[in-house]
Order: sequence, then structure tokens, then C-alpha cells
Amino acid sequence: MREGSPHAPVRLTDYQPPAYLLDTVDLHFQLDPGRTRVRSQLALRPNPAAEEAGAPLVLHGRELELLRLELDGEALTRATYSVDAERLIIPEVPDRPFTLTVETATRPEANTALEGLYTSGGKLCTQCEPEGFRRITYFPDRPDVLACYTVTLEAEREEYPVLLANGNRVAAGEGEEGRHWVRWEDPFPKPSYLFALVAGDLTCCTDRFTTASGREVDLHLYTEAHNADRADHALTSLKQAMRWDEETYGREYDLDLYQIVAVDDFNMGAMENKGLNLFNSQFVLARPDTATDADYANIQAVVGHEYFHNWTGNRITCRDWFQLSLKEGLTVFREQQFSAAMGSEAVARIDSVDRLRGAQFPEDAGPTAHPVRPSEYVEINNFYTPTVYEKGAEVVRMLHNALGPEGFRAGCDRYFERFDGRAVTVEDFITALEEANDRDLRQFRRWYTQAGTPQLEVRSSFDAEAGTFDLCVRQHTPATPDQPHKEPVPIPLAMGLVGADGADLPLQLEGESEAVHGTRVLLLHYEEERFRFTGLTEEPIPSLLRGFSAPVEVDYPYRDAELAHLAGHDGDLFNRWEAGQRLARTHLLAQAEAVGSGGEAVLPDPLRAAFTRLLEAPPADAALAARALMLPDEGQLAEYMETIDPDALHAAREAARTGLARELRDGWWALRDRFRDTGPYRFEPEAVGQRALANTALAYLMAEPDEAARAACMEQFRQADNMTDQLAALRALAAADVPERPEALDAFYERWQDDPLVVDKWLAIQAASPLPGGVERVQALMDHPAFSLTNPNKVRAVIGAFAMRNPAQFHRPDGAGYRLLADVVLELDGRNPQIAARLVKPLTRWRRFVPEREAAMHAELERLRERAGSPDVGEMVDRALGDEGEA
Ligand SMILES: [Zn+2]
Repeated sequence: MREGSPHAPVRLTDYQPPAYLLDTVDLHFQLDPGRTRVRSQLALRPNPAAEEAGAPLVLHGRELELLRLELDGEALTRATYSVDAERLIIPEVPDRPFTLTVETATRPEANTALEGLYTSGGKLCTQCEPEGFRRITYFPDRPDVLACYTVTLEAEREEYPVLLANGNRVAAGEGEEGRHWVRWEDPFPKPSYLFALVAGDLTCCTDRFTTASGREVDLHLYTEAHNADRADHALTSLKQAMRWDEETYGREYDLDLYQIVAVDDFNMGAMENKGLNLFNSQFVLARPDTATDADYANIQAVVGHEYFHNWTGNRITCRDWFQLSLKEGLTVFREQQFSAAMGSEAVARIDSVDRLRGAQFPEDAGPTAHPVRPSEYVEINNFYTPTVYEKGAEVVRMLHNALGPEGFRAGCDRYFERFDGRAVTVEDFITALEEANDRDLRQFRRWYTQAGTPQLEVRSSFDAEAGTFDLCVRQHTPATPDQPHKEPVPIPLAMGLVGADGADLPLQLEGESEAVHGTRVLLLHYEEERFRFTGLTEEPIPSLLRGFSAPVEVDYPYRDAELAHLAGHDGDLFNRWEAGQRLARTHLLAQAEAVGSGGEAVLPDPLRAAFTRLLEAPPADAALAARALMLPDEGQLAEYMETIDPDALHAAREAARTGLARELRDGWWALRDRFRDTGPYRFEPEAVGQRALANTALAYLMAEPDEAARAACMEQFRQADNMTDQLAALRALAAADVPERPEALDAFYERWQDDPLVVDKWLAIQAASPLPGGVERVQALMDHPAFSLTNPNKVRAVIGAFAMRNPAQFHRPDGAGYRLLADVVLELDGRNPQIAARLVKPLTRWRRFVPEREAAMHAELERLRERAGSPDVGEMVDRALGDEGEA
């Protein structure tokens, strides 16, 4: 039982430098899945920068068995230290350098939290960010304590022939009774969260990279033997990332060896441990017949992301966890730049904005809203959020755009040079940018401290006689928990004026002597600003927030014809897509409102017209065309409803989708026929775009499935030589009430049952199917032998897909969807609180829904508050309930 909030929050303002610094760490592991012994030797010394001299030595530790404790070789008696569930405290230590030896034991097999040292598929592996190292040994487990590590791993040779840790392999040998050992040395100082080890029977796929300065780096990707043919794409992506970072940021890799290990049981996507990345196998293994285009793109992005961390995160790390976005926002931005460089820039931008709007905007508008740099937390695991990552990346992008590519690069050079080997803050990063560019970015810092999505209200007026076009822009950020009053933030508003012929008109502000052609950026600083464009001979259509130049919401009273014009002609490809989405959104919301007041939803005429035009002349970039032909999803549409009525929204979107399917049937067939055959599978932007387009057409054909569509879908399902096409067919079948559905699902499982990553797709497709009976379907999937509550990928595939990608079934009127979710959270709470807490998210928005759903969600949150024991879930529930939670 939890009473109020038993776990005290940690506050940014309470930060104090560590009392003791660590120079070297010597770790010796006697690895055993049942009980692993860890001997740790720490070379410590008082920190001259500490607040007070002679402070006690405080080490973190959780669920450890303490076997031995020595200071400078002398055993410490029980009276000279204290130990509780979280800490080991030695009140008196020497006022000079000293050595502490700690011996502990930990039980990897019993570790279901998947933090610290645990077992996965016969391997031993670790996950230490943010606070997992304290489950391995007593240690100053905070990111501002950096040290050089020597690690000796000892294990049974037969079961664990491969023994890996960070850095370079420096020695190895035989032990007694069939055991062997390997020693690793990492020459770069690092905090404990970047520590990693892996032990197991693994196959090594190798490659090589020559750095710009001519150094040879060995690339090793470890996987189980049967997955060895799925490593190529990740290794190719790694080399692309290494080259790109050299060319774009002048950053070279620094060790002689780069290792990646695929792990099946993993809470996160991947982890950037120095020289030894651990990856959720989902984000590293790919073969054309088992992985989709989306998987290929994700792998490229995640491999890049973890690699880029070597400089933004590892060489320069965070002073404390409040600075998480220092490494994550910057690295997500670098990852986005990389993805854009590897494929279509416009599509990469659309996809990143889609993620932002799908996950971050709702977070920023709800009870769990927090700034990019939070000011307090109870459980730091709860702050690995879209705000810290995605919005953090948007803030870095604004800085990049404000300084220009060269100015940003100069600022980053300064940052790398000045802070290499140190643990720093967001301020340090911005200061480096300021100094290198001689700019004052003071006001930009507000983006890190103020939560909420700024709303931009834009109004215009045209004076034909004077040839002037006036824009009035007002910004307003809604109140968020603990931040009732908001200050204006600097907003770079990239914009253009589009003429009747579709071309950009010259932009000349009043008082300027020359016009700018194309896009220009209006930098907003105040609550209200006015701009007058002169010299116009026709009424322009404003194209606002081009390329999504700031993470804000734009309110402008576009007429349908204006949106249609922009959707067809805007020179900015992102805004061309955006105009179509806005048109669709406006009409879908109007339809939902009609349904809510007892009417019937239909396919709105402007939508039919827009899609007809798109089908007649799709954009040249096939991937862009595919995105333009997709209706905004229900989750994003819901955010624009005053009170969310999931049934009305679903009815409205379904009416449009089936209407488009029915009325434009010939167009869908033609589109599919034109783009279907892409030849042998290649992961190249053009082929990816064509598959996306053909499969979008298939999805529409299956929205109103006649015999021909069903036959075509089954044929594609059976004949596809790649997972992208096969899965697209299966998804369409699983979402339709057709006789072929069970046959296809069974055949798919039959074929792929021994392949856990493919089975995850099979589970997710069924959990996300909008067909009636969703709750029962999910319950059946949870009873299926392929499901396991201890594997986070399976939980995400079934429960995550159901609660986050199946609004029609999750929000079932009787509340059964909410009940199911809360049951799973409670079951996971004691085993893996990190995953349990993430699942609470969909319930946190309860206040936004129509009354009966609001009450049903609230009831489940109350039940969680009563029964959940972990601080992770407790914090999420307390924040969701707001003031009520403190009763
Ligand atoms: Zn990261």
C-alpha cells in the first residue's frame, strides 16, 4: 500500500558536487547466473571542489549481498559503516587518497527488472543507465563521477566462451575447473552508467572501418549463431554513421574496437556503453524476409544514434540526470540529421514531427507535462520521455537553425574541445554555442525550463491597393502542472508567401530595401508581433512554419481552397504534406462533431477532391506520396477535440477511409499496379517509397474488401519475398472481417513461430486490429505460448500496441480495455517496474475524455494507486491524478 508519496523527490536545486572523486576502478567478476561475485577496488580521493571537507563516503547499492569491505587493505568492522536498502555509508574515511575494496554478490537469474546484471536467453548482460550499476556493486553511482575501468571477467568456458566488456581486450587465460577469464581496459574515463559486460555463446560478425585519419577500427557484432545472417545491415549502418559523423561534425571514433551485442530481453531500444553497445535485437537484426522497411530504417537510425553518443554522451557526459536532454536531445537531433542524409529529407522530417505530435504534444498537454530539463523527479526512469528526447531534439534544431550549419558546427567544436572528458550541463552546451558565435542565446534557455507546447495564433490581412500583406502573430503557452504562468519563448517561424501560380512570392518587409526569395525566418520574441510585407500584386497564401521550424502549434484560419493550393504547390515539401493533413484534420473533426450530436459521418467532399488530385498526380517522391495519402491517426486527431469522444472520432475516420476506398477504387488499383513491382529487395529510398505507396493502396482496397481485393491481398501475402510486403498484406487482412483472416494469421505463425522478432509483429498486428472483441483477443494472445510477461518486446507488442495503437478497442465503452491495462501494470509492477510505469501513460489523460470514459479511467488509476508498490508506477499515478493523488 502506498500512502501519499513515500518516495522523496530529487531536485535539481539540491545538486552538490561529489565529496569524493574516483580515479580508477578495478572490477573482478566471478560470473554465474545463480550468484555472481563481484570484487571492486576503488581508488578514491577527497574532491577539492566539494562543499565540505570530511564528509561521509556514500555509496549506492540495491539488492546486494555484502561479503567484504576493506579500506586500504584493512577490514572494516560493522561499527564503522552503515548499510540499508539503498546506501552504504562510511562516516569516516582518510583525508587523502585511499583504496576501498568491496566484495558483493548478486543474483542475475532472479533479476526481472532487467537493470544491473541479468540473464537473457542464456547470456549474462548488463543495463546500467541510469541507476543500474548500483545493483552490481556498492558504488558512487552518479554520472559526475568518472573513472578509468579495468574489468576481469571469469566464467565457465563452455557456457560462456565469449566474455566482453568496455574498451580494449588486454589479457586472457585459463582458470580452474573449466573456467576462463578475459581482462578489458577502457582508457577513457566514464561514469558507471556506461559500464557494460556480456558473457555468452555468441557468434561474431566482423567488419572494418578506416577513420579519416587512417586508423583501423574493428567492428564486431555479436549475435546467436542462427542470427548471424542478419548482421549486415547494422554493420553497414554503423559504417555510414561513422563516416557521416566525421564529415558533418569532424568526430572520429577513438578506440580500436567497436562492439555491438544483440539482446532479446531489453527494456530500452539500445544502450551506448563505451565501446560495447547493447541493442534490443529488434534494432539490430535484419534480413529482407524477416524485417520490414521500417525495421531497416529504425536500425539505421538507432545504430547511428548509439554511435553518435560516443561524443555526445560518452566523451562529454551529463553532470546529473536532470541534464539528460543534453545528451539525448542533441543525439536525437544528430540521428535525425543522419536519417535525412541517408534518405528523403522531407520524409525524415515528416516522420520525426509525426513522432513529436503523436507522443510529445499529448504529454506536454497532460498531467505528466515537464520541461525538457525537469526540475524534480521521484524515479528518473520515468523521465526517459518524448519531451526529453523529441522536444529536446527540436530545441537543438532551433539552435542549429538560428546559428546556421556553420555557426552550429563551430559551437559544437567549441563544446567538444572545452568539455571533453567532463560531466556538464545544458548551460555549458549553450555557452559554447554562444561563445563560438558571439551570440546571446539567453532567451533560448527558456525552452529547457518551461513545459507546454506554445500556440501560435496567426492572422492576416491583405490590402490590394497598397500591395501589403500584414501578419499578426500571437504566442501563448497553456499552463502546465506547477507552471501556471508562462513567458514568451523565442520562436523561429520559417515562412513563405505562395502565389496563385504556386511559386513563392518575393518577401520584402516594410522598411527593407530588398526582397528575399523563397523561405525566410521571422524570429519571434514577444507575445504579439506584427509584420508587413510590401510590393505584392496579388493576395498571397501564407505557408507557415515551413519544415516545422519550431515545436509549436499554428492556428491560422485557412480556407479549404488555400490548403488544397498549398498541398499541391508549396515549395516546402514538409508544408505541402502538412496542408493536406490540416485539410483532412479539419473535416474529420467536423464529422466527429456531427456524429457526437447524433448525425452520421460521411466522406467530406474536399477530402475526396484532395485524394482524387493526389491519385491523379502523386508527388514524385513516392515515400512522400504515401504519407500524403494517409489520414491523420485517431490519437493525433483526438488532441484537437475539446472533449475526446473516441467512438465519434473512430466513426468519422472510418467513414472517410471506407468512403475513399469505395469511391476511388480504380485509382487505388492503378496506384498499386504502378508501384507494386520493385524487383529484388533493396533497402534504398526509391524502392522503400514505392513499396509504401503500393501498400497504402492495398490498405485502402482492403478497407472495403471485395473479392478482387481479398484475392490480391492473399496473393501478396503468399508470394512476397520480403517482410514489408508480406506484413502489409497480413495487416490489411487482420484489420478486416474477411474469411481469409484466420487462414493468413495461422499460416504466418506456422511459418515464423521460431523467430521471436517476427512473432512480435504477428502479436502486434492482432492487438492493434480495430475489429470488435479487441479485449478478448488481447487476453487470448496473453495466453498464447508465444507471449511472455517477462520479455519487454512481447509486452510492447501486445499491451503497448493495444493501449497505444488501437483507440477503438482500448476505449471500449464498458471500460474493459482500461481494466486489462491496469491488471497488466499490477502484474508487472513487482517484476519490472520500469516497463509497468510506461504502460500507465494512456490512462494519464483521463480528464480529456467524455464523462463515462473519464470515470472508468479514473477508477483504474485509483486501483493502481491503492495496489501498486513501486515508486515508478506510484509517481506516474500520482502525477496522473494531480492534487487528488496527495489525499
Ligand atoms: Zn540516446
